[in-house]
Amino acid sequence: MIIDKIEPLREYLNGKRRTGLRVGLVPTMGYLHEGHLSLIRRAKKENNVVAVSIFVNPTQFAPNEDFEAYPRDIARDHALATEAGADVVFHPGVAEMYPPNSSTFVEVGGEMTKVLCGTSRPTHFRGVTTVVNMLFNIVNPDNAYFGQKDAQQAAVIEKMLRDLHLGINIVVCPIVRETSGLAMSSRNKYLSEAEKTAALVLSRSLAAAKRAIDKGQRSSAEIAKMITEQISKEPMAKIDYVSVYSYPDLVAVEKIEARTLVALAVRFGKTRLIDNIIIE
Ligand code: AMP
Repeated sequence: MIIDKIEPLREYLNGKRRTGLRVGLVPTMGYLHEGHLSLIRRAKKENNVVAVSIFVNPTQFAPNEDFEAYPRDIARDHALATEAGADVVFHPGVAEMYPPNSSTFVEVGGEMTKVLCGTSRPTHFRGVTTVVNMLFNIVNPDNAYFGQKDAQQAAVIEKMLRDLHLGINIVVCPIVRETSGLAMSSRNKYLSEAEKTAALVLSRSLAAAKRAIDKGQRSSAEIAKMITEQISKEPMAKIDYVSVYSYPDLVAVEKIEARTLVALAVRFGKTRLIDNIIIE
């Protein structure tokens, strides 16, 4: 079932909740792949009713970014989401979420939204936290499912939950990869075959970093250097950042001691890809 308006979705979910059923939410921008489906399957295991939102959120794109070009295929998404366990797909139009006079944003302050992806995408996270907050208010889920693929996003949302005392449980699910190692992403569709092959350097360099850390390397600078050198050998790759931060508070660390995020963003042609590992 697809619902494209807020009120009917609320009525449907309120009916479920009144009978004591637990509701899980999986927010997505659609063009679903196995990464998204892993979140939906997990949500189905842990909840009675699963709502999947499919909304390409304009406020998290800067004017020079790919909002218009972002791939969309609601019929295919509806079929895939339903097969994976979604009870309802919420697919609102932009005007439903942002009526013409809408002017309120939810923004997580401090450094954590300014570092990593926040440097090249300064308005991105306030768009994310605004729309996720709307979805939480509309769906009122018990549990919400996010991917480690967007590790900074998950950390920022967890911070918003704590700061705003939202009683919602967040589940962060592992990164799903192609057999080649490439992290699945709706944006992989933009890549030419040559770029797709070149992009394998991302997961390869992160795996090599993980091996070095497992062998005892503790220097963030050395790890970042090692990854940067490996990626720089790939002529098609243009590095945005390679960084080592504590997780989930996202503070730059010199030594890899506690839970640490090793994250990168790299452009291949006009496509910007992100990937990461979390060292426990
Ligand atoms: P998106 O549609 O890109 O906004 O992603 C929706 C959700 O799916 C986010 O929580 C992402 O982190 C998650 N996700 C995207 N790609 C993957 C992946 N390869 N593995 C696991 N989760 C993913």
